[in-house]
Amino acid sequence: MQNSFYGKIRCWERLRKCTDEEFRIAHFINPGEVTIRSRNQYSWDLKINRNALSGLVITLVLSLIPNPAYSIAKIVPDGVCKIDGQEVSFKRKIYACLRSGKKIFWNEQAKVVVPAPSPTFVEPIAPTSFSDLADRAGGISYWGWKKSATELKTGALSGVEVVQLLGPNSQMMNPDPTTAIYLTERLYSQFVQPKKVYLIYFSFSDVTWAQLQFNKYALHPTGHEAANSCQSAATCWGAQSEIDMKGNAILLLSVRGGGIEDLNHSSGTLEAHEFTHAIQGSQFIGTSKEAAAYCCTKSYMPWWLVEGGAEFSHAAALYSDSFANYSSERKNDVGGLFTDATITTSWLETFLKPGSTGDWAKYDNWRIYDVGFLASEVLAALQGPQSIMQLYREVALGKSYEAAFLGIYGISWNDAVPILAQAIHSLINP
Ligand SMILES: [Zn+2]
Repeated sequence: MQNSFYGKIRCWERLRKCTDEEFRIAHFINPGEVTIRSRNQYSWDLKINRNALSGLVITLVLSLIPNPAYSIAKIVPDGVCKIDGQEVSFKRKIYACLRSGKKIFWNEQAKVVVPAPSPTFVEPIAPTSFSDLADRAGGISYWGWKKSATELKTGALSGVEVVQLLGPNSQMMNPDPTTAIYLTERLYSQFVQPKKVYLIYFSFSDVTWAQLQFNKYALHPTGHEAANSCQSAATCWGAQSEIDMKGNAILLLSVRGGGIEDLNHSSGTLEAHEFTHAIQGSQFIGTSKEAAAYCCTKSYMPWWLVEGGAEFSHAAALYSDSFANYSSERKNDVGGLFTDATITTSWLETFLKPGSTGDWAKYDNWRIYDVGFLASEVLAALQGPQSIMQLYREVALGKSYEAAFLGIYGISWNDAVPILAQAIHSLINP
């Protein structure tokens, strides 16, 4: 009868890595009677003297029961060690017992990596109306993003056809512009969409070519649209969006030359911004205000809602899969407001509701983009991005902006302005 038992211990049949503690238990139960033949992460291959087997099993079972009284002496890896190949962890380091000639000694290995506990993200409380906006201002940015991401994920594609044109001397910076168009389309899938979108890409050397393309589709081209968007090789960074009589969108999109890197031109945010304008305009197609669709939605809507809504949309559409990435893009857009002490609550009230629409032209032009971004984020946090596009649709169908606002958000525009101003102020002074 053989006096030895060969078998594997798979870390007590649990699918996990064997611990050093288990290693020690397996080996030191009865030194000399248990021999580790090989070791890998999940099992020990043992040769055990049969006489030791019953004791081994009992001790292994004991080791599974939490018992403060049962412990194996901690191995301190200093000086000479006994078992070639043995590893122990000590003070967050791993030591291996190595043999070199006749010497056998502990050798410090790589540090034990202790993974940092991942913080558990707790969603802030969502604001639900203008009445709880001030108390729940901490949730505005997150819920503006979250409600947009949810809308985008559930939104169906209506199937806009993308036609991409590139100037003969120009190079694309965004390798996949169609994705940006589709993401934006899904953000507003409940609304009228352009049937087709022409993307006309051009660098400074193709301004004449781009204008010729634009003239083919645009309703009333001035002949200067391409040059306005690309005034020099160094400042060729503009873009423009229009709708034609058939409800198609024409996006004039400059590309930077000379190897200039520009995330707005390579990430899809530029296309998403301009396509949002096309969707804003599309709400007016077939209505008595149709003329506004082709060029001039600012005739009916606050300028900050037109540009800020497009700015917010491009961040929400392109970064719907990550609040952190959305926040990073948001910071690029609105970061200037955080350091501007002139943006007070009363300044914001006047800006949101000026004496006349022409007053918006008197401000720094970027204010309709960055303040508009935050105003749009507030509205999206309350009732999703679709509530903003609903404003366009109802105005296009005949309501005033004020009447549409009251119907959608349940508060008069006059009463909403100071609350909205306070909310924006709290976003830039967190
Ligand atoms: Zn714009």
